[in-house]
Amino acid sequence: MRLAQVLFTQGFGTRRVCAGLIGQGLVSIGGQVADDPDQEVATDGLRFSVQGREWLYQASALVLLHKPAGYECSQKPKHHPSVLMLLPAPLRTRGLQPVGRLDEDTTGLLLLTDDGTLIHKLTSPKHHVPKVYEVTAKHPVDDTQVQRLRDGVVLDDDPQPVRAADCQATGSHTLRLTLTEGKYHQVKRMLAAVGNRCEGLHRSAIGGLKLEGGPERGHWRWVTDEERAALL
Ligand code: URA
Repeated sequence: MRLAQVLFTQGFGTRRVCAGLIGQGLVSIGGQVADDPDQEVATDGLRFSVQGREWLYQASALVLLHKPAGYECSQKPKHHPSVLMLLPAPLRTRGLQPVGRLDEDTTGLLLLTDDGTLIHKLTSPKHHVPKVYEVTAKHPVDDTQVQRLRDGVVLDDDPQPVRAADCQATGSHTLRLTLTEGKYHQVKRMLAAVGNRCEGLHRSAIGGLKLEGGPERGHWRWVTDEERAALL
């Protein structure tokens, strides 16, 4: 692909702007300035930098954000800034969307992509992609609560019970809960249904992808093709 086209597909602006960035010597590949917009480059696994910042070529973008509290997973947030503000402009230009939603006060692993099919697969209950949540509860967690969360509880808007695919107490007031669906405020409502209250919520994993090891809260990283394949 032509280098100017690479930048264009990755959200760096119009073709003219992209050719301008290259012509000004602001783009490099493998540490060498690449100043010819017409240079042909292989896109598979291509890493390049623009104004000193490293980029990975992705035909469809997929990034992992460590969501802090105080951000909404909406393009039109009501009370807090959108998580999209934590991404650099080229990714926002590409129209990335959060894969499902985390509440404003929930922290942890959030995927964002411009691939609608992937969003559907990761959020549809049919595909059973497990999402792991670390819960801090207001009241002590007991075996009865854990068992009820595993067996299924009825939420106020649906007679069909919802159950945790897995649930374990990890401390006197903490739980690790795995869900394969994502109803509105599901974890919080499940905790309330067993007579407890969720006071802190953090998502630590989606499928085979774990947040452990980074990035830091408020930061993002690329999801590699191998990680993408392991997600489903
Ligand atoms: N369940 C909730 O209640 N909130 C979240 O943010 C995610 C799952």
